[in-house]
Amino acid sequence: MEAELKGLLSDLHSLKDSLRERSHKDLIDKIQSRVEHLSAAEKLANAHRSKIKDMSAEVVDSNPYSRLMALQRMGIVDNYERIRDFSIAIVGIGGVGSVAAEMLTRCGIGRLLLYDYDKVELANMNRLFFRPEQAGMTKTDAAVQTLTDINPDVVLESYTLNITTVQGFEIFMSSLKNKSFRPDKEGSGVDLILSCVDNYEARMVVNQACNELNQTWMESGVSENAVSGHIQLLVPGETACFACAPPLVVASGVDERTLKREGVCAASLPTTMGVVAGLLVQNTLKYLLKFGSVTPYLGYNALKDYFPTMEMKPNPQCSNAACMERQKEYILAKPARDAAAAKAKMEAEESVEPECLHDDNEWNISVVDDDNDAQGSKASSGAVTEGLVHELPSADAFQQPPVTEETTTTTTGDDLEELRKQLEALNAD
Ligand SMILES: [Zn+2]
Repeated sequence: MEAELKGLLSDLHSLKDSLRERSHKDLIDKIQSRVEHLSAAEKLANAHRSKIKDMSAEVVDSNPYSRLMALQRMGIVDNYERIRDFSIAIVGIGGVGSVAAEMLTRCGIGRLLLYDYDKVELANMNRLFFRPEQAGMTKTDAAVQTLTDINPDVVLESYTLNITTVQGFEIFMSSLKNKSFRPDKEGSGVDLILSCVDNYEARMVVNQACNELNQTWMESGVSENAVSGHIQLLVPGETACFACAPPLVVASGVDERTLKREGVCAASLPTTMGVVAGLLVQNTLKYLLKFGSVTPYLGYNALKDYFPTMEMKPNPQCSNAACMERQKEYILAKPARDAAAAKAKMEAEESVEPECLHDDNEWNISVVDDDNDAQGSKASSGAVTEGLVHELPSADAFQQPPVTEETTTTTTGDDLEELRKQLEALNAD
């Protein structure tokens, strides 16, 4: 394109020299300035930023990491640059997965592995991320194109395959085991798998892979009517796996495929998908960079602005053999875990007060404790005029008692029944 525009300019120059009439020459001048304008716009469109070796906290307009590194200065994270050590696998680059991939790319994640077999369609344009000119491209190719432009520092690996096929599953497993990015890493080659698929079968495949590899993962989903969603953390052996607590549709014995009717498609909203992707990546960042508390399950009901949380223990009668193995290992490792927790507690008690970040505080800025603030607002919103009642219970009513080691191993069917009821309540319109 650039060479063609150059050639056009030179042709115009020759043409102008050969002309005698003044008005013709003026016209050529006009065309020449238009071509120069086009040429400049073309150069601007192709301007890519170069790779950055070390993340800097320097506050300059040209530093893409200054706002992220500020999290360290604000005391939210200890070491933000650690994010470059992590590998995340995203299965399903649809409405949630593509947005999650973009967020992690903008955060400067070390490596992203992307899995999808689908193509971009115009019917996807009600969602974020993909653009109309990418229609017809595979979702993986289109994602790599966009993400490389946004942040060339992220190592991107894309796999255009269906993980539910025998061959697809083999490639999926070997890509997860590959440790060339960080050879000293323990366990598999990835730190976390994000499941952003839209069907039960694919979720069961991710579940199988994670149970076999003892790989922590996060599941996400958006309802077919587009107004609710959830994210869930799954730690093999420690929390319920996807087979421990099957979703309602499968639990009732209905074949998921019979639910899909010809010419009828699921509804989707960029808002709900964006919210779920945001919750998923927020939980991912907290898990990786160790700040705040990582949620075991967070639901989102858009109609009622309701965010239920819960914890799910593994099912001692789980049908997945690898899950049962991981549950056994988890119980056997209890003494070592207790010792490590006691040691960490002792060290925390011995540690001295952190030193003051700022000796002088000329603006008198103070940080308000979130917990205190929450209590304050709870107290004020809890007061209702006589005769009125809250439609929904307070968030505290949904906080389950803390899970103890003993109860973890003695789960009964009652827990699943309770979970089923909670899911039913969440899905009720
Ligand atoms: Zn299980």
